[in-house]
Amino acid sequence: MQLDFLGDLKRTHRCGDLRASDAGATITLMGWVNRRRDHGNLIFIDLRDRSGITQIVFDKERNPEMHARVESVRNEYVLAVTGKVEPRSEHTRNPKMDTGDIEIIAVELKLLNESKVPPFFPGDANVNVNEEVRLKYRYLDLRRPEMHANIEMRHRVTLAIRNYLAGQEFYEIETPIMTRSTPEGARDYLVPSRVHPGEFYALPQSPQIFKQLLMIGGLDRYFQIARCFRDEDLRADRQPEFTQIDLELAFPTEETIHDVVEGFLDAAFTAAGHTIARPFPQMPYDEAIRLYGIDKPDLRLPAMTDVKAAFPPDALAALSIDASLPVVVIRTPKVGELSRKERDEHRILLSEKQGKVIKFLDDFKRLEKSWPEAIAKVCELCGAEEGDLLVLVAAPKKADETAAAHDEAAAKRRHQRDSFAVYTNAGQLRLALAQRYAARHKAFEGKDFKFLWVTDFPSFEWDEQSSTWTFAHHPFTSLHEEHMELLNEGVKALHDPNSALGAIRARAYDVVLNGTELGSGSIRIHQQEVQAKIFEALGMDEDEQKLRFGFFLEALQYGTPPHGGIALGLDRIVMILAGAPSLREVIAFPKTAAATDLMMEAPTPVSDLQLKELNIGVKK
Ligand code: ASP
Repeated sequence: MQLDFLGDLKRTHRCGDLRASDAGATITLMGWVNRRRDHGNLIFIDLRDRSGITQIVFDKERNPEMHARVESVRNEYVLAVTGKVEPRSEHTRNPKMDTGDIEIIAVELKLLNESKVPPFFPGDANVNVNEEVRLKYRYLDLRRPEMHANIEMRHRVTLAIRNYLAGQEFYEIETPIMTRSTPEGARDYLVPSRVHPGEFYALPQSPQIFKQLLMIGGLDRYFQIARCFRDEDLRADRQPEFTQIDLELAFPTEETIHDVVEGFLDAAFTAAGHTIARPFPQMPYDEAIRLYGIDKPDLRLPAMTDVKAAFPPDALAALSIDASLPVVVIRTPKVGELSRKERDEHRILLSEKQGKVIKFLDDFKRLEKSWPEAIAKVCELCGAEEGDLLVLVAAPKKADETAAAHDEAAAKRRHQRDSFAVYTNAGQLRLALAQRYAARHKAFEGKDFKFLWVTDFPSFEWDEQSSTWTFAHHPFTSLHEEHMELLNEGVKALHDPNSALGAIRARAYDVVLNGTELGSGSIRIHQQEVQAKIFEALGMDEDEQKLRFGFFLEALQYGTPPHGGIALGLDRIVMILAGAPSLREVIAFPKTAAATDLMMEAPTPVSDLQLKELNIGVKK
């Protein structure tokens, strides 16, 4: 096929622009053939670009030569068309199209490019294309109006956030991609150095250390739309590289940071056409665990209620419930009557492991027969209404009472750990029930944005596998000043799961939306000795501290201001705003759940020569 050059032809409009008021104008459009209909003397072409679609008419009588050329045009060919805007007649108007009041009578055609028959047609809204095919031909997939809308939404939201932060005197500053390890709890992606054989850069898991160094550098307010890289075990909706809205401020309180975040989220949600309520409520971590059994509560459904006091001791004994641990009720609204079979199916909501930690009772009619007063009290405590599903959750009574710990403080901490296990397993059951009956309570439908700050997280978490304490957020998080004593005590018992370290609470906060964690941050440690002590609590002796963080411990000694910050996942925010089912729908070139790029076919093996240059041998 003979193709034309663009020459100096310029387009006058985009394909979604023209309206009835443009009738009579001579215009030039450029774009892709979305659809072609051949009616003999008349050929209709729907021309598409990112803004929309316009119908173009090629009339054999007016221009037989051009008409003949258009006969060979197929979907996804690239055209430039100059023509006249004409109003459509009443019966050919298409109210479903923005440009449906007009059509273009073609005067001149440039055939700029042809296209192979694509594996799927971007213009077909209803075709279910396998996601692997979409990802392999991402450039075609990106032509779909849905993808254009998501990418445009991402741009609009990012711009609103940028503008908001710039207005709050933040500087946008880039930080290195090739750097050294930043501990955020995942594995590093490594880049071998050719110049320094046997040495590696790490891709940043976050710009954490750099942004703190920027505060030491006196830059006062920093932000970045930052790419982060984490080599984590594969989970359904994760990306090995993802984007954070990352920021840091000097001399802040928690309130200063929360204000900034609420401000930019407000700007982002407004840009996407939503209003949100501010200020966001706050809840300490311990309360979130008690009420929701999770550190990212979904406030769209009722909290769990502690109902132990409603039961006389003999009732708990008869129900084989451990009376020393929490007894809670989960209320799921508007579920209605359940059959025996439906209730039986609740069993599969718990894994075998969970079944050892908690037991649940969902036959309230039966409970009511035996303990009418207690159940009336339970209903009152949790505010039950007609049709609500109530499920009582508690720890099963153990046959052999575990030997009492001789240290009272340690016994208390063990009790806290056991209670935690009951709450968190009950919390998972609460979410499973919420999902199961979503069609009945309908709380997840519509755009109900329930934000929450979860505060005062534990500083340390016990890692069963390694039998050590690890950081809960990252090791630069400040603890509450009054917990310094616990830190001093805790470093003496690094391998004890009941050590004082578990009681330390951090000046850390998460922003949560409808049960999803959008971001985490903290007030940082700005004193060198405290930082060194935290590293010690994480099991790093002085040599290791020096090796891994010597430069940072050094920097902290040169007048570090108090500082703090946060990072929020941009991909996830856009996904929620776009109502998209996965992160891959809002990232132009995402990776699969197996961390591969199906279009670029990455990762790939490299040549022996490259390996040799890098001084690397690969085991075959
Ligand atoms: N660097 C942290 C993260 O990626 C966020 C922060 O503490 O600012 O989760």
